[in-house]
Parts: sequence; C-alpha cells; structure tokens
Amino acid sequence: MSGRLTQEQIDLRDAVGQLAREQIAPRAAEIDQSGVFPRDVVELFARQDVFALIYPAEYGGLGGTLLTNCLMIEEVSRVCATSGLILAVQALGSLPLLLAGSDEQKQRWFPGLSSGSLLNAFALTEAGAGSDSAGIRTRAVRDGDGWRITGTKRFISQGSEADLVAVVAVTDPEAGRHRDLSIFYVERGTPGFEVARLEHKMGIRGSPTAELVFDDVRVPDANRVGEVGEGFRIAMRTLNRSRPGVAAQAVGIAQGATDVAVAYARERVQFGKPIGEQQMVQAMLADMATRTEAARQLLYEACERIEDGAADAARWAAMCKLFAGDTAMAVTTDAVQVLGGYGYITEYPVERMMRDAKITQLYEGTQQIQRLVIARALLSAQ
Ligand SMILES: Cc1cc2nc3c(=O)[nH]c(=O)nc-3n(C[C@H](O)[C@H](O)[C@H](O)COP(=O)(O)OP(=O)(O)OC[C@H]3O[C@@H](n4cnc5c(N)ncnc54)[C@H](O)[C@@H]3O)c2cc1C
Repeated sequence: MSGRLTQEQIDLRDAVGQLAREQIAPRAAEIDQSGVFPRDVVELFARQDVFALIYPAEYGGLGGTLLTNCLMIEEVSRVCATSGLILAVQALGSLPLLLAGSDEQKQRWFPGLSSGSLLNAFALTEAGAGSDSAGIRTRAVRDGDGWRITGTKRFISQGSEADLVAVVAVTDPEAGRHRDLSIFYVERGTPGFEVARLEHKMGIRGSPTAELVFDDVRVPDANRVGEVGEGFRIAMRTLNRSRPGVAAQAVGIAQGATDVAVAYARERVQFGKPIGEQQMVQAMLADMATRTEAARQLLYEACERIEDGAADAARWAAMCKLFAGDTAMAVTTDAVQVLGGYGYITEYPVERMMRDAKITQLYEGTQQIQRLVIARALLSAQ
C-alpha cells in the first residue's frame, strides 16, 4: 500500500490517522446530525499544524506536496468526510494564490491560512453556471485603483465561514470565452458581501454550503490574482490540483466503509457462524478492498504526475476523481449491504458514509464532466 510513499509521508499519514481516529471519529455522527460546522476540528488542525502542510516554507508553511495533502484528506475522510473537506477546501481556496499570486499577496495571506487563523473558500459556481463556466454573470468593473464586484455565487463550501473568498468574475464581457474572467479575493466584512443562505444537504452535512451575494463590493486591485482575463486558466489549473483532493476524500470514505464492514462481518453471527464466513459476503468485502486500493493507487500516481508538471495534468486529475468517486459510491453501498438492516440505521456509520460519498461524484465537476475532460485529452493527443 505504501510502496511509493516516503518515510516522512508515512509518518505524517499515520500521525494524522491517529489524530482522526482518536479525536474526530467520536464526533463524526454528531457533526452529521447537527449539521453544524465543526470549529473544534478547525482548531485541532491548526494546533497540529495540519493546515500548514501545503504552504511554502518561506510563508510559514511546511512545503508539502500534493500527495502529502491528499494523504491527510484521505486519513481524515476515513472517519469524517466533513472534516476531510475542511482540508480540501482550504487547499482549493488557496490554489489561485499558490499558482498565480504575487509575493505580496502570499506574504499577506499565507501565514494566516497556514496557521489556520484564516479560512478560505473558492467561488466559481452560480445558479446559471455549474458545469459551464461560460454562464458566469458575476461582474467586476474597474473603479479607479480597484474593482466593484456584483453578483451571486451558489453552493460555496465553507462560504459562510471563510475569511477570504476567491471569486471568479467577468472582467471583459467582449473578450470571448475563456478570456473574459479574472479572480479576486474578497475579505469577510467587506461592505456589500453577504451570506444569503445555507443549503440543507444529503451528506457532508457539517460543511456549510453557502449562497454568497456581492452587491457592489469594492476590492483594491491588490486583491486581484494573476492577470486580468487569466481567471479561467487559473481556475482550470486550480481544479487540476484540487480534484485529487476530492479523490482523496472519496478513497478515505471508501476505506472507512470497508473498515466498518470487515469488523462487522467478523462479529455478526447468523446461521450459527459469522457472516464473514459466507462466501457472498466475502466476495463483497474482496471487491470493496480491491476497488479502494485501485482508486488509491490511481490517486497517488495522479498526484505525482501533476506535481511533476505533466502536460496532461487535467486528464490525470479527472481520471483519479472519476474513479475514486465511483468507487466511494459503490463501496459504501456494498458496506450498507454487508451490515444488512443495521447498515441503514444511524447507529452505524455506513449510511452516513454512503450519503457523504455521493457528493464526490458531483462537485468540482460532475463525473460526466470528468469523462469529457479525459476523452478530449485522449482525442486531442498527438
Ligand atoms: C455540497 C456542494 C458543495 C459545492 N462546493 C462548491 C464550491 O466550494 N465552489 C464552487 O464553485 N462550487 C461548488 N459546488 C458546485 C458544484 O461544483 C456544481 O454543483 C457542479 O459542478 C455541477 O453543476 P450544477 O450543479 O449546476 O449541475 P449542471 O451543470 O446543471 O448539471 C446537471 C447534470 O447535467 C450534466 N451535464 C451538464 N453538462 C453536461 C455536458 N456537457 N455533458 C454531459 N453531461 C452534462 C451533469 O453532469 C449533471 O448530471 C458545490 C456543490 C455542492 C452540491
């Protein structure tokens, strides 16, 4: 399982895994039932320097790789997908800065993001712009040495908790598809920026999904990341590095469900023997473990290729997210089956894991969009 990992990565993974089992797992059911954002988990990650992993050392971080971050997301999601998502969203919101931010912007925000005293979010989606970013209507208009942003973003993970939101907005409607967008960081408390509502959801219920309204919000030009018109390119490069985070969440959920199913199959006695001795149950467990391991290895390979600057990074990101999301859905459904009626009730965690798994097939591009990305890369390759 850990053949490709360095000893440092194995040690980090095991330390975060232990933290998750001891301090997050006992909270997971309550986080799901209450639907309240777990600030205690944020504080735990901050105390243990888990947020710091992805930031460069010169800005207060630990300089970890994409794979290191995915290992942390995987270990935490194994017990609580909502908590794993906190790490994934912190990375997602920081990626435009990591990829295209100026030294001044990194100096300004990375120390806070790295210590966990600042949380961020990434706001691309709108009511009319889900799979198709060409539908974005949020507009940023020049205003002296700054910009005025007006529009509404929908389904923004952690949008109501974030201190800093990366907002993708149209800066030049005439520039044509893919050259009309730019990215701005809007700070919480800026006049005109409001959380309009929170969604009620099937899974990842402790992660607030917010509608954000920007009503003539003024930001200085210093909050624009990258060049004007470069927003689409930065957003796509961001997704190339954040989709593996969703895949890591999916692999963690699948592994967590497999863990529960195996333990249950050892204990539950029917027809005078543990159900784990029934070959049809064994077949389910074997398929669950095999699928999960295959998804994990594809994820790790994708992380390495993307980190190495592969020209086809988008394809690798899409492939690992596609395969891991479908794996999480199939494996958690089987885990419920292994537990029988007990799998369907909230006393056991697998029904929560099944609900949580579904989102990994939807966000950061649905599975259909991942397939489009993969097929386009194949068909355009020389
Ligand atoms: C809980 C949650 C958290 C989220 N967090 C964030 C966030 O933090 N930031 C953010 O910006 N967004 C976020 N999103 C938005 C998410 O990324 C979008 O919901 C997703 O990309 C799909 O967009 P849509 O919901 O508008 O679906 P649509 O684009 O309307 O798609 C509907 C269906 O049509 C299919 N479809 C659409 N176009 C095609 C096509 N060309 N070919 C084949 N099939 C197609 C889709 O696959 C899907 O099955 C979040 C969503 C949820 C539910």
